[in-house]
Amino acid sequence: MKSVQVVEFGAPLAETNAELPTPQGTEVLLRMRAAGVCHTDLHLWQGGYDLGHGRMMSLQERGVHLPLTMGHENVGEVVAWGPEVDQLQSGELRLVYPWLGCGHCDECRSGRENYCLKPDTIGINRPGGYASYLLVPHPRCLIPLQGLDPIAAAPLACSGLTCFSALKKFDADILKKRAMVVFGAGGLGLMSLHLHKALGGRGVIVIEPDAGRRAAALEAGAIAAVDPNDRDAQAQVLQAATDHHVLQVLDFVGAEQTAAMAFDLLSKGGHLISVGLFGGAADWPLPLLAIKALTIQGSYVGSLPELKALVQLVAENDLKLIPTQQRSLDAVQDALNDLDKGQVTGRVVVTP
Ligand SMILES: [Zn+2]
Ligand SMILES: [Zn+2]
Repeated sequence: MKSVQVVEFGAPLAETNAELPTPQGTEVLLRMRAAGVCHTDLHLWQGGYDLGHGRMMSLQERGVHLPLTMGHENVGEVVAWGPEVDQLQSGELRLVYPWLGCGHCDECRSGRENYCLKPDTIGINRPGGYASYLLVPHPRCLIPLQGLDPIAAAPLACSGLTCFSALKKFDADILKKRAMVVFGAGGLGLMSLHLHKALGGRGVIVIEPDAGRRAAALEAGAIAAVDPNDRDAQAQVLQAATDHHVLQVLDFVGAEQTAAMAFDLLSKGGHLISVGLFGGAADWPLPLLAIKALTIQGSYVGSLPELKALVQLVAENDLKLIPTQQRSLDAVQDALNDLDKGQVTGRVVVTP
């Protein structure tokens, strides 16, 4: 089997060939059909995250070992399985839930594997889908596609799930009654517009510096798209907000500027959910956190039950969450370079 691997942080990816593995126990072998290229791969390849104040989070110290085959947004075709697996048939297409944990702790057993302290994430802690085949540890992480196209379905495993899980953390009544503010109209921001609507949301005000992306957000149904560099940006947002105040903010950027503006925008009882990993540190006036009774919450990917619910929501509503560009497996490096330069619209999905 062919794999495209990180052999050294920041160095060009290398193509390797290895024997096709024979699934043992509960393992399932998939022939890869589609693998989405995620912004997280860029951080993995580069080896860390900027934590602000000059600090970096090293992924090597967080259990990421090289060589690594990245790729955590995978759809494959079942080709073989271990002796402890039943109820699978050769040729079935499956979306892979990648955010696996140890399988034994309280979090894992309560269906919150993505909060496990010993993550075994496919494409981060164990080999992922930038390869011709993918070995998954257990059939529980395989989700039927419900008729979805493999290329469209692959990004649901990370970017789709990240959006969905974040939106589900907001109070559903407020979401239906009042416009929400979303920072960033890249891939996640645009996905959130479609999912927000499918969940019965009142409307989304997008904050985005790029004019092309603002236009794309309006086309995707945003009720307003504001340039944060405008002097009166905050006033423009409040003008578009329900009753001119904001209770829910979703930050897909996660930069110092967005964190500051989100805090200022929120009204009493407001809720900020931060998803973006751009980097930096927040400088919030702490007394206002109490006085405004704000909730600030992080959200990281999502759970297996949430991914199943998302696939159902997308299939039932025939949602087109994100435009995809198909490239060959050899083009992962180019895709990462393009992501780094901010030159990708929608999602690159590689196929072997
Ligand atoms: Zn991802
Ligand atoms: Zn666990």
